[in-house]
Amino acid sequence: TVNRDQKIQAERLLLPIVSEEQAIVETVLIHPVVIICGETGSGKTTQLPQFLYEAGFGSQGSGVFLFPCILKLPFIQAKLENPGIIGITQPRRVAAMSTASRVAVELGLASSRVAYQIRYDATVSPSTIIKFMTDGVLLRELTTDFLLSKYSIIIIDEAHERSMNTDILIGALSRIVKLRQSMWEQKKEGIKPLRLIIMSATLRVDDFISNTTLFSVPPPVINISARQYPVTTHFSRHTSADYISEAVRKVSQIHTKLPPGGILVFLTGQNEIIGVCRKLQARFGRKLKGGPSEKPTVPKNIGPAESPFSAIQDNSETMWIPLADVEAEEIELGDGALDVDLNIDLEDESDDVRDPDDSMTDIEEMPMHVIPLYSLLPSEKQLEVFKEPPARSRLVVVATNIAETSLTIPNIRYVVDCGRAKERKYDSRSGIESFSVSWISKAAAAQRSGRAGRTGPGHCYRLYSSALYENYFDEFAQPEILRVPIEGVVLQMKAMNIDTVINFPFPTPPDRDNLKRAERVLINLGALEDKGNGLTSITNLGKAMAIFPLSPRFSKVLVSAKQNQCLPFAIAIVSALSIGDPFIRPEHFSTSENQQGTGKDEAGVGKPRLGAFYASQQLHGSLGGGISDVFRYLSVVGAYEFAGEDSDFCMEHFVRPKAMEEIHKLRIQLSNIIQINFPEIGVGTLKLNKPPDPTQASHFFSVQVLSLSTPPQLRVLRQLLAAAFIDQVAVRKDIVDNSSSDGNKYTSCRNVPYKALGVSDDVFIHPSSILYNSPPPDFIVFHEMSKTTQTWLKTNTIINPA
Ligand code: ADP
Ligand code: MG
Repeated sequence: TVNRDQKIQAERLLLPIVSEEQAIVETVLIHPVVIICGETGSGKTTQLPQFLYEAGFGSQGSGVFLFPCILKLPFIQAKLENPGIIGITQPRRVAAMSTASRVAVELGLASSRVAYQIRYDATVSPSTIIKFMTDGVLLRELTTDFLLSKYSIIIIDEAHERSMNTDILIGALSRIVKLRQSMWEQKKEGIKPLRLIIMSATLRVDDFISNTTLFSVPPPVINISARQYPVTTHFSRHTSADYISEAVRKVSQIHTKLPPGGILVFLTGQNEIIGVCRKLQARFGRKLKGGPSEKPTVPKNIGPAESPFSAIQDNSETMWIPLADVEAEEIELGDGALDVDLNIDLEDESDDVRDPDDSMTDIEEMPMHVIPLYSLLPSEKQLEVFKEPPARSRLVVVATNIAETSLTIPNIRYVVDCGRAKERKYDSRSGIESFSVSWISKAAAAQRSGRAGRTGPGHCYRLYSSALYENYFDEFAQPEILRVPIEGVVLQMKAMNIDTVINFPFPTPPDRDNLKRAERVLINLGALEDKGNGLTSITNLGKAMAIFPLSPRFSKVLVSAKQNQCLPFAIAIVSALSIGDPFIRPEHFSTSENQQGTGKDEAGVGKPRLGAFYASQQLHGSLGGGISDVFRYLSVVGAYEFAGEDSDFCMEHFVRPKAMEEIHKLRIQLSNIIQINFPEIGVGTLKLNKPPDPTQASHFFSVQVLSLSTPPQLRVLRQLLAAAFIDQVAVRKDIVDNSSSDGNKYTSCRNVPYKALGVSDDVFIHPSSILYNSPPPDFIVFHEMSKTTQTWLKTNTIINPA
């Protein structure tokens, strides 16, 4: 039995899902697969594991199981031993961590018993009974234990997001549930049935229910009727391209004119969020009011919204895209829509906030408590949103769509929605991935406004017109599997002996072009063998590649890096490439913490920092002679390893601390995987000798890499990169055209067009590349192509340097 704290028990009783406990448990006992739908905040994620735990799941050897066959004999109920833990997947790390700790508290259990596991971090132990994990973690477990034998029940949470991992897990689990059931019926030693619960925020579960390849018997759906208070939606009269200033303006108005209540602002990415937080903090934060000066909650190393670059974020990587370009596209779209249908627009609210309760409140004195929330933020900062804000302050959370469904932030009464999100898109014919800011779906907009109605009637201010919403917003977002390259998935499946990927029970199958392209990439990499008749089979190389939690291209670099003692360098390189560009421009370093430390003002740090930034780029770019952005990464990764726990390193070298830490962890993880699976290969080490002068440590390191990693070594590394990205080659356009003279007429890559294989548009070397300020090379391999108004090549390496 569970003894809950009284306060927690009272809070639980308010959650809509709690009144459904019995119905849910009964349905789960009878049906192997169940779908649960309920509004965000109804208690799905935190309560369902507790229901199951109290119903006997999770604890060793005490699981209660009733089966349809048994129910046919109504008076015989069997108590069956079913040891096995309760597993819950989350698309985001922060959700896995925060809900694990919340459920542990609610149940009064240790964090080793209600544990989490995310890519680099875990609290799991042999005594774990409830395990929260990211979907990627469970996918990896499938490759070593396809039956998931340590689980008695799996909950796939946030299924409506339709992330690729989630979709694949649901497909695989539909088969595993069947398999465990029939093995159990055949009385196979130690096999017990597995149950599956799919949880979703919106009601778009058709893809799961009516897909008979997935579930031959449609699973029952339990709808949790949420106690949602009415939310009044206010559209803007115009759709301004500058949604960042609009957001600041709207929040300021709400704060100064409307009654107390938290404000949740949806923006698209880290730099915007930091910029807005700083503005609000400066204007309304505690320190201005003469109160006790508070440490700003805005972290350092991030930049203002005005900066021309903005970070794209997803679970794993950062991409830089020129925001200005994105905005240019949006101006067209927004204003165009306005011209189309003025009538609809006239119904919109005015742009100004009116007091919805007609009761002006004096909040002059109330400071704002501003908190940023996005996935690249260090985890402990992300968890700040659950802390009680200081008394007599207004909570303002500025977030990406991470706050749409994954996290329920308490006491939000106002939502400000920019209507956009950064999205990864993929053209399976050209292979171009573009990261761009685009309009969200109507379903996502509804989710966002719903956040305002959890604790009382609320208001949602949409920074776009209703005409735009009606005409340009899709009903639902597309599943991720239709938007991203899938060679990694295909390789994983082949490694799991799923030979005909096309027959896999995808909730939404990938399109055939994408599948074909993935197979072609894998054949080029040597991971698959073409058997003719459209059949392919996995090679030994492919099996080795599938061991690594990396994109197949990066795995290929690793498994081919055995020669010339290149492996430690290759590990560092693929770690950096997997996490994404670690460098950050000085204007993206917030000065708020400097101010506290040094008393310098914002203007005072700008210019010298820019100089230091270029000097640092030159230093790291000089590895290999300025021919590769990858070597620039290698240099800084090496220097970071060398510097050890030096807290100033990231400041001095203009890199993101979180990225460097993740690169470090991935490096260790990859080295371990190699040591375990290929013990005959020494992984080597990146550690080097101590420099004579410690203050010159990082410079010394780069010089050492230069001399240590001999030109042949660097040449091998370059060849490995070229082999892994053989289909991502670009040639300077005048060479293809056989036109004009030669590259000599250019002094930099600015506006110099290139042609990339299979891409009809001209492409350009991105300004962040180390190649940008030198004469443009003939041929390069690139690792990312991203499209804004121009198509940019990033992280480039010259193929045949002079
Ligand atoms: P759902 O999964 O249906 O969206 P949750 O179970 O996440 O709902 O949330 C239920 C309630 O628990 C919400 O009121 C939320 O604020 C609260 N809650 C969730 N996680 C935490 C946490 N880490 N700390 C404090 N409260 C939390
Ligand atoms: Mg949830």
